[in-house]
Amino acid sequence: MLEGARVESANIIIIGAGIVGLAVAAKISEKNEGVYVLEKNPRYGQETSSHNSGVIHSGIHYPKKTLKAILCVRGNTMLYELCSRYQIPFKRLGKLTVATGEEEIAELDKLMRMGIDNGVEGLKMLDGRQVKEMEPNVEVEKGLLSPSTGILEPDELMNHFNAKMRKNNAVLVAETEATGIRKLKEGYEITGTSVGEKFEMNTKVVINCAGLYSDRIAAMAGLEIDKLGYRIHPCKGDYFRVSGSPLVKIPVYPVPKGAGLGIHLTPDLAGSIRLGPNDYYVDKIDYNVESKQEQFREDVARFVPKICEREIREDSSGIRPKLQGPKDPFRDFIIRHEADRGLYGFIDLVGIESPGLTAAPAIAEFVSEILEDQIKK
Ligand SMILES: Cc1cc2nc3c(=O)[nH]c(=O)nc-3n(C[C@H](O)[C@H](O)[C@H](O)COP(=O)(O)OP(=O)(O)OC[C@H]3O[C@@H](n4cnc5c(N)ncnc54)[C@H](O)[C@@H]3O)c2cc1C
Repeated sequence: MLEGARVESANIIIIGAGIVGLAVAAKISEKNEGVYVLEKNPRYGQETSSHNSGVIHSGIHYPKKTLKAILCVRGNTMLYELCSRYQIPFKRLGKLTVATGEEEIAELDKLMRMGIDNGVEGLKMLDGRQVKEMEPNVEVEKGLLSPSTGILEPDELMNHFNAKMRKNNAVLVAETEATGIRKLKEGYEITGTSVGEKFEMNTKVVINCAGLYSDRIAAMAGLEIDKLGYRIHPCKGDYFRVSGSPLVKIPVYPVPKGAGLGIHLTPDLAGSIRLGPNDYYVDKIDYNVESKQEQFREDVARFVPKICEREIREDSSGIRPKLQGPKDPFRDFIIRHEADRGLYGFIDLVGIESPGLTAAPAIAEFVSEILEDQIKK
């Protein structure tokens, strides 16, 4: 905790200890002292970073040259290296994205082209028979195999980044919520509550990694979030778990429709299969599963008919910090130094939805470059 009226001084304050805040802290504390990470919850990683599919994405879903595409492909490579080097459990399973009917096949072709444009290696289009040979319970006309997709346990990755930042003397301050940001002549004053007590803290640099609340942090610093297109539209997704022996060995996704990637089947590291997430916009942050299992069964039965013979039960949910509101077109991650808006030393990370887990180490590298190249400390 930060003590009452005492003013502590930091060099860099990161707001938010999800996977992104932790990865950034682990990276920048290699070269910087006085790094603090403020987290409103009692522990790190209790929001979006522990409520997701745990998939290491390949990078087929994002338009060329966007941050999502670049940082996903880079993050994918970095994650495999990191997991192998530090014995973080993972499985490089590959993934099938499947299509039935002309319209979906055309979409699948688009995904393949986008993947190639983004530098995703090893993509292969399979016909229905080849798909069935790989996954006997999947019945479709075509499937796109992306061999570089994998799975991991997000908590294990967060434990790694937390251990690394601690080793580099960065400090995680839990139960500490930033509620005010004031620009000083040099740097910023952050105010808030730490374990029920008020605190104020000065810092040269602020890095906003507050996930679902990152628009509020940007607003606290004085940015006009609606004018800038920074408002977060929380978009929830529920998961159900499938009983019995695994129906598939590798992640199987439909062609994306709507705001998410479509209800897919994903094995966890033990092989147990989860269905989801679906997507619906919400007004409040609440992790109770709200969807009906019939919708999940119906959607998945289109490509795995055997799902109808299985029991499925409510599992968990996650909430995407989306910049893209209902019916809006694609939106990219926002990662920028706000110096040109009068906020020298303030770095915003807003709208870090999927593939934020995959991209986390690459995002950290990117933020570290901004810090090195643009901010005098
Ligand atoms: C359903 C779902 C499935 C997904 N699946 C995948 C996937 O398979 N692969 C993939 O790559 N990505 C996936 N993602 C995306 C990925 O989970 C996110 O991009 C990533 O977790 C974002 O991490 P974060 O650190 O930015 O946010 P968070 O984990 O939300 O962390 C932000 C932290 O900031 C803290 N905070 C907020 N405000 C304050 C404040 N004022 N003061 C102090 N602390 C504050 C919060 O408490 C929180 O701990 C998925 C997301 C969802 C919702």
